[in-house]
Amino acid sequence: MAPTGQWYGRTFTGMPRTSKHLALTYDDGPNEPHTQRLLEVLAKHDVKATFFLMGKYVQQRPDIVREVVQAGHVIGNHTFTHPNLFYRSGRQVREELLQCRQAITDAVGEHSNLFRPPFGARRPVTLRVVRQLGLVPVMWNVTGYDWSAPSVDYIEKKVTGKVRGGNVILLHDGSHRAFGYDRSRSVIVTDRLIAKYKAQGYAFVTVPEMMRTVSRQASAAS
Ligand SMILES: [Zn+2]
Repeated sequence: MAPTGQWYGRTFTGMPRTSKHLALTYDDGPNEPHTQRLLEVLAKHDVKATFFLMGKYVQQRPDIVREVVQAGHVIGNHTFTHPNLFYRSGRQVREELLQCRQAITDAVGEHSNLFRPPFGARRPVTLRVVRQLGLVPVMWNVTGYDWSAPSVDYIEKKVTGKVRGGNVILLHDGSHRAFGYDRSRSVIVTDRLIAKYKAQGYAFVTVPEMMRTVSRQASAAS
């Protein structure tokens, strides 16, 4: 389940070499009030991020998802109920992805084709179904371990210890354990990380923006 492993098929994990771009990604939302607090922090810094949403929370609070989209952020599919797809059949994976897609479509209409597997778990059958549905799997190469973090400092250290440029950073604005789960630490660390890296000349981009840069560089190199 290594997030950057490619042996089960290609997934996007960030830029191939050091660059002055970073992509912030948030999983398991929408979540109240932490998604809204996060939107305030991102707006304050004029930064756009990428959110991987759980369908059942989308169904519960489509209004929060509309706020995320109206603020200019990118949203993607994180399944309906957040199962570990490694242990699910192709049919079950398909059902989870379609249910989430439908919930997001009902809330905001068209959205990105990005997908992030819960727990990063995937195997060939998972990725086959993902591709059949036209979805693009997105992993990460830096995590704040914010699902079990004792403090804001802890999350900040986990991230800053790994950032080299061109990274996809995994954080959480929600939790599959419960709607309303406390993510205030992830919101605060976002504020700190943006201030820190902007001061060092980094630009924060969405995952699709980072992907476009990568493919431009690839075609320029060939
Ligand atoms: Zn998740």
